[in-house]
Amino acid sequence: MRFSFTPARMPDTSVFRPGLLDGQVALVTGGGTGIGYGIAELLAGLGAHVVIASRKPEHLEQAAGQLRAAGGAVSTVAVDVRDPERVRAMVEQVTNERGRIDLLVNNAAGNFYAPSESLSPNAWKSVVEIDLYGTFFCSQAVVPVMKQQGGGRIVSISMTLHYRGWPQMAHATAAKAGVDALTRTLAVEWAPYGIRINAIAPGPIPTEGVRKAFTPPADSGIPDVFAAADEAMARYARKAIPLGRWGAPRDIANMVAFLASPAGDWITGAIMVVDGGEWLSKAGA
Ligand code: NAP
Repeated sequence: MRFSFTPARMPDTSVFRPGLLDGQVALVTGGGTGIGYGIAELLAGLGAHVVIASRKPEHLEQAAGQLRAAGGAVSTVAVDVRDPERVRAMVEQVTNERGRIDLLVNNAAGNFYAPSESLSPNAWKSVVEIDLYGTFFCSQAVVPVMKQQGGGRIVSISMTLHYRGWPQMAHATAAKAGVDALTRTLAVEWAPYGIRINAIAPGPIPTEGVRKAFTPPADSGIPDVFAAADEAMARYARKAIPLGRWGAPRDIANMVAFLASPAGDWITGAIMVVDGGEWLSKAGA
């Protein structure tokens, strides 16, 4: 299979004021790769100290090295978000080292195609535990810290596939529907603590991770759009995405930065769709 994606053209300079997040501490799960890396990069560029957290040291170390080389203040924590004890230990470590947590980005997730009728209990459990339980465990773990410091922001990365149904992704769509429900419920429950809780639903962004997840089984009849060459991919985007291009991690990072900034002060319980209009488009269904 060929995969050589040319990222969407993004402005080099941020639209945000330099130093916008100076003094803030942001914890980004899954921050070593793909969209999470793009989020970490922008937050660090805006002055936040960014902690990236995931399972694999090779993801964390490589990402941290690149971010530091670009001038970012970055640290790493190894965590499996499915494990509430390790999640609590992660939050304790960050709080001990940095003194506060202003922003949690629940970005870690797992996904793959699997027919629902033969989906194994373990496969179901694994995805639901990473995407949904992980989001809850991390959110719950930061509450005492945010409460004590008088507030904070939580942004969870959801998806749009559960809006219309997506064959062979019952596990991930169910989990992300749960993330949306959690976002609304926790937003109301924890508003008295000054915690703003929102979600972002990205459209298709051809990260390495999503390319693996969205490679459909050969006999499934589902088109393997990421197998196409650049020009074919661009054609597909023009047809399936009303705004005519694939997304880039920076598209999602911009929304995270907006929600983390004072502009997000009166926004909570919202699910921001950032997808170029893809989910509304019949051609994309
Ligand atoms: P990705 O690069 O595969 O990101 C997933 C990240 O989660 C990895 O950094 C991975 O790091 C981490 N992770 C996985 N399991 C974990 C666990 N148990 N504990 C801690 N960390 C774990 O894919 P992506 O495309 O950037 O996706 C990022 C987010 O965007 C996900 O929430 C995804 O559902 C959402 N999303 C993506 C798209 C898209 O088109 N790309 C569309 C809609 C929504 P380790 O392997 O090191 O643990």
